[in-house]
Amino acid sequence: MRYIQTVNGKITPDELGITLPHEHLIIDYTKMLVDYDEDEIKDLKYEKINCKNRNLISKYFNANLDNMKLDNINIAVNEINFFKKHKGNTIVEVTTIGIGRNVIKLQKISQKSGINIISGTGFYTQPSNPYPPWFFKSDKKKLTNYFINEIINGIDDTNICAGFIGEIGCSYPLHPDEYKVLVSSIYASKELNTCLMIHPGRSEKSINQIIKVLKEHNANYEKIILCHIERTVFSFNNLKSILNLGINIEFDLFGWDLSYVHLRREPPVHVPDDYEKVKTIKKIIDLGFEEQILISHDIHNKHRLVKYGGHGYHHILRDVIPVLMKINNFSKDSIKNIIINNPKRIFTIN
Ligand SMILES: [Zn+2]
Repeated sequence: MRYIQTVNGKITPDELGITLPHEHLIIDYTKMLVDYDEDEIKDLKYEKINCKNRNLISKYFNANLDNMKLDNINIAVNEINFFKKHKGNTIVEVTTIGIGRNVIKLQKISQKSGINIISGTGFYTQPSNPYPPWFFKSDKKKLTNYFINEIINGIDDTNICAGFIGEIGCSYPLHPDEYKVLVSSIYASKELNTCLMIHPGRSEKSINQIIKVLKEHNANYEKIILCHIERTVFSFNNLKSILNLGINIEFDLFGWDLSYVHLRREPPVHVPDDYEKVKTIKKIIDLGFEEQILISHDIHNKHRLVKYGGHGYHHILRDVIPVLMKINNFSKDSIKNIIINNPKRIFTIN
């Protein structure tokens, strides 16, 4: 039987509808706090987010502990109700082990809002220290079975099942523990014909390293999603070679203005804004790769929620599609493929 696994049970692929394939509703990202040298930014660390500090926090989102935590069920329900009002149906919640995955809360959010939520199995990056003690004694086979068990039987001691594998955290260079997770997740993905979503390290070389591992283990490319493409791959030729393999790519930082923080990185990086992203996506569509594109916001900070002055989970449906995609002459079919048919094909388990 072909199905999609949500936190409230199986649904048919046709019930998926308009889908955001990469969001966080409940997350604790505080282990990834970044310490800045400048006093003004350093002083943000223990403040509660408010109107006065919001602008600075939006630029230095990893410098404020309050901003790095989403833990409130009612706030999440209110936020995704905006998405629902704009005809949204499903959210793929990509929080993995290491950054506060909580499927019981996700199930409640889904029940209260009526939005389908799909949760994943897997581990975030090694610096988030996600591994339980048993991990270090386990070989790849045991780890593969662990992922399969979370998809077939349930997560921890619940009967809430994962609906895909990811987001699997990769750093650059790939840490040996991350390598073990990546290879095991490739096996589990092949075994169940399940989506495998991969978070690459912050370097274009990280993509090459991941693809090498995918090739060596004969991954099922049709079910692979490479996330955060706009902050990772800057050469259009590289993008084309990923697409030529049949791998799906995800522009999942819509609504998030990264123009300040990434310009402070060494080397400084310009992350394209929404308009530039849409233009790149149009170029990809014109080359015939429309069925390999996904879009989302990757909300994981308070400053991006409506409650805290942010753009919310409905930004793509309210602003990107009717405005930016319209200006760039996207056809109705292309939009339908990107927000409905592509997630449907990739997240269907069969
Ligand atoms: Zn990620």
